[in-house]
Amino acid sequence: MPRLRHQGDPHPGQGLTQHPRTENAPRGLTDVIDGVDSPGLVDAVERLVALPSMGGDPAEIAVQDLLADAWRADGLDVQAWDIDVADLRTRSDFPGMEVERTQARGVLARWPGTGDGPTLLLLGHTDVVPPGDRAAWSTDPFTPRIDGDRLIGRGSCDMKAGTAAMWFAVRALRDAGVRLRGDILLAAVSGEEDGGLGTYALIERGVRADACIIPEPTNLDLIPANGGALTFRLRVRGLATHASRRTEGVSAIATFVPVLQHLERLEAQRNQDVDPLMQRWPLAYPLSIGMVRSGDWASTVPDLLIAEGRLGVALGETPDQARADLEDSLARLCAADPWLAEHPIEVEWWGGQFASGRTDPQHPVVELLAAAVEQVGGRAPGVYGGPYGSDLRLLVGAGIPTVQFGPGDSAAAHAPDEWVSITDTVTCARTIAAFAMAYCGVAD
Ligand SMILES: [Zn+2]
Repeated sequence: MPRLRHQGDPHPGQGLTQHPRTENAPRGLTDVIDGVDSPGLVDAVERLVALPSMGGDPAEIAVQDLLADAWRADGLDVQAWDIDVADLRTRSDFPGMEVERTQARGVLARWPGTGDGPTLLLLGHTDVVPPGDRAAWSTDPFTPRIDGDRLIGRGSCDMKAGTAAMWFAVRALRDAGVRLRGDILLAAVSGEEDGGLGTYALIERGVRADACIIPEPTNLDLIPANGGALTFRLRVRGLATHASRRTEGVSAIATFVPVLQHLERLEAQRNQDVDPLMQRWPLAYPLSIGMVRSGDWASTVPDLLIAEGRLGVALGETPDQARADLEDSLARLCAADPWLAEHPIEVEWWGGQFASGRTDPQHPVVELLAAAVEQVGGRAPGVYGGPYGSDLRLLVGAGIPTVQFGPGDSAAAHAPDEWVSITDTVTCARTIAAFAMAYCGVAD
């Protein structure tokens, strides 16, 4: 267990009290910040990482149950329920699902306030992506390891550290004897990585709040907006012949080469004029092919190529507009090619369909959270949009102003030797606690 920097002490006179909505806040703030149980928090992250909760794996249920039990043991009012996956996936606005999953569990805990303040939802997803090539890992992905300030393991950064941090923020408030005016809701959701089933189910259940923080990895910056991402599949047709007579056939692979180049040009066009929140990224809205399959025999000219990829959705653009942009662009390409005019590329939209989402960066929730970050961490956070889809768009779509704020760098997410900074995880818990006091208000 490394020594933790203790940078959470509030600076005298530079408090959250400067903000008009925090006039009667942060009595007891120092106790709360000092009271975050760092060793307990690290232990909780390790316990969460040790469960291989990849989408569709039974451990996706186990990790939900672990949190439900832990939150119940903390004295919170916990609801845990089986999500009717078969029913939800028939809905027209279902956000998609890319893995086989017949079961999913919803978990929501409430820490009631005195009832006269705003409700704050803290939401973390508990599913993780598969580890990929295990040889690229220096350790077993699901046996968490600590190296200096790094906690290493699949899901540590995305986003089990953040989920544990929001939980330990509530613990610190409770242990310091603070009584908030508004309620805090803690939600653990599954299926985020492949569409957002868990958050969709939560909203369908009628769960609402006045604001939401998702502690996804943001390096403790604030991300009030996300570009979207739409998963698609292309079918490019060819004509099979024996390879010895290849000029009499049409190779689906060769046909795809100019299609790929065309998609790169479309990507460039779609990134010419981006929202100021997205300008920090070299490429705000990527259009990427992630998988190509073609052919079944080395000496046969292949008659079918299947390519799967993701299309970035711009802030302010609807998924329908983005889908039409890709389809129209490919239709123009096909019309100009003799073979493709006769055998147009088929476009199928399947799997995760993430809309973009945006909370106004001037929204009081964003400003108040920025003040808490500065108060606790001593640094004004960056405020910008994320180039990936997340549950934020579902919550914003339900009218809940939502900000991502959490420990870890999203570049480490989904990578081998995924890691999160322990110091930043503790700072995140302290900051969420300070924000909750300012936002929900402290009862007299
Ligand atoms: Zn995530």
